[in-house]
Amino acid sequence: MVNETLNVERINWKDLHLITPEGVKQWGVDTEAPELLSPTLNETLICNGCGHYYRPLVYKPGLISPDQFCNQDCGIYFYNGSTKDFSRWAGVKGSWGAILEPIGQVAGSEPSQVRRAEAVLVTQIAGVCQPGKQHHLLDNGVLVPSFKLNLLIPYCEDHYASNNGAVLKFRISENGLVFSPIEPLRKYFL
Ligand SMILES: [Zn+2]
Ligand SMILES: [Zn+2]
Repeated sequence: MVNETLNVERINWKDLHLITPEGVKQWGVDTEAPELLSPTLNETLICNGCGHYYRPLVYKPGLISPDQFCNQDCGIYFYNGSTKDFSRWAGVKGSWGAILEPIGQVAGSEPSQVRRAEAVLVTQIAGVCQPGKQHHLLDNGVLVPSFKLNLLIPYCEDHYASNNGAVLKFRISENGLVFSPIEPLRKYFL
């Protein structure tokens, strides 16, 4: 659990999806490991201002820049809200979230919680375990596939006691997600 480090009033955050390598490749990103992607997964959006087509970006700790920023739609969307909002809504929307700081120009202001930045610096990522109506943040656990959209859903080992159906273990390091096999070894990504 990583709640201690999130003990601040308001934070900037974004919901994310963890996608299998096969799913990530559909967006033209070559990878051998699952990646955290922004949540616009089933559509390619076109900016009403400049006509740029934008696709999901890969997120990890560090600087994330979109290919385009303009004064209409392009840029990185994020929320400004409470830490409680983060664990609740990142879970509902994507099962994963990033805490970030906007870099450069930012569009959007109070009372809207939705903002748009020229770039962001991701300072922390977390999984959200959601057994029933509970939810809590994770820095390690197991991944269960949901083949709709190639998602990988995180659970803590307590709330997913048997590991039946889980395909990988994960932990979050300062550099991002680290994966390891579940014993007995299942041939999934190997
Ligand atoms: Zn644009
Ligand atoms: Zn749990």
